[in-house]
Amino acid sequence: MIEATTKTVLITGAASGIGRAAAHRFALAGWRCMLVDLNGAALEGLVARLPVAGDAAHIVRVADLTRPDQIAALAMGAPVLDAIVNNAGMSDSSNVPLVEQDAAQFARLVALNLDAPARVFATFARSLRPGTRIVNVASGAGLHAIPWRGAYSPSKAGLIAQSQTLAQVRSDLCVTALCPGFVRTELVETLIEAGRLDPARAVAKTPLGRMANPAELAEALYFLARDGAVPLNGQALSVDGGSSVYGGSAACAPAAIEPVPLDTSLELDVVDDAVRRWANAARAQEGAAYRSTLDASVLDAAPGQRLAALHTAAARFASEHRRQASLTLLLPSPSASTDPAKTDWRAAGDSAAARMLVSTLACEWGASGLRINAIEVSPQAGEAEAASLMPLVHFVAGASAQFLTGQTLRTAV
Ligand code: NAD
Repeated sequence: MIEATTKTVLITGAASGIGRAAAHRFALAGWRCMLVDLNGAALEGLVARLPVAGDAAHIVRVADLTRPDQIAALAMGAPVLDAIVNNAGMSDSSNVPLVEQDAAQFARLVALNLDAPARVFATFARSLRPGTRIVNVASGAGLHAIPWRGAYSPSKAGLIAQSQTLAQVRSDLCVTALCPGFVRTELVETLIEAGRLDPARAVAKTPLGRMANPAELAEALYFLARDGAVPLNGQALSVDGGSSVYGGSAACAPAAIEPVPLDTSLELDVVDDAVRRWANAARAQEGAAYRSTLDASVLDAAPGQRLAALHTAAARFASEHRRQASLTLLLPSPSASTDPAKTDWRAAGDSAAARMLVSTLACEWGASGLRINAIEVSPQAGEAEAASLMPLVHFVAGASAQFLTGQTLRTAV
């Protein structure tokens, strides 16, 4: 779908993998892309294949993002940006132990993965309009330490924290981090060839039982660069097949089923709370193919009964769906001042147990393509707030988020 006015997104690391897929996704939707990468030849090849909306031709900039002077030069003659996607990154396939790495090797990885996103932001900071989206591509490696990859995990943990704090400092913008799991890109192929990554083992730690396609991460980046991402301001979104929530010792079963096309339209059933604001806001679509349920019933559960209510909701969903569908639950935000889980320690335990049930169900359901996620909302949210959350609900529930499972998303609603 082409958007009405031409918007501009800057994408770093656009010549390959996730960045290249993102360039295709934004361009297809009518955005102008400012494509930045070290690999000029690959950028030229890419730009020749991208659709162009109107007369706003895409822009190619060759730059080594480990070099502050080359980052600063990006601002010269650049258009006003609506979104920045800091995606360029490198891993370390040298297999050299951390304490034996030479300082230059260590510093180069940190310069690209952690310092470059900050420098790109600083370069454009003054010219950014309120509401500009900043999306930093971090990694599941920033949430759990991956050894023998140099400073990769530390750099990504730093990028997540940097994004969260920038969201507070520049509250006029919308800043998020994306934490991909294993994605079949050139970076991952390099690790596989170097013997640093065993694809079977990666899949064995992923409840959905497969690696992602770059296009699935591009869908997440495209979502995070638009209005629907506002409730997630300051959050890190893990699109990782459930690998960040998996704590089992047995190998996850490989996917028993292929994902459906990412643009498959959504058929959304709504199991509502007593007020029925969620069904009113969702207006279930007809004649579509990817089956999803939005279940708000846990919002009505008495204090201490959320775990039981969520279990009932999950059993209801599982009795209706055997494969390839998603359940999205709305949970009361435990940070809301009126939430019993804030002061009642039993209710706090029940609330946390319910969130972990979401993750545990994701691990059990993954191989058959059944997904489950939760979105935390204020119990006081009215119909206007419900409506503001619908783009997020549709993204989480829909086919374009088929690698998203086991997550409980905190929102500002
Ligand atoms: P990729 O290697 O396929 O692409 C990275 C791009 O960055 C390349 O086009 C490369 O030329 C560019 N680049 C490298 N060094 C650069 C430099 N100094 N200056 C400018 N550009 C440079 O990688 P990918 O798998 O698409 O990863 C993209 C992002 O996603 C990275 O930040 C990566 O850490 C992150 N990520 C990837 C995975 C995965 O499984 N592939 C998982 C988690 C996070």
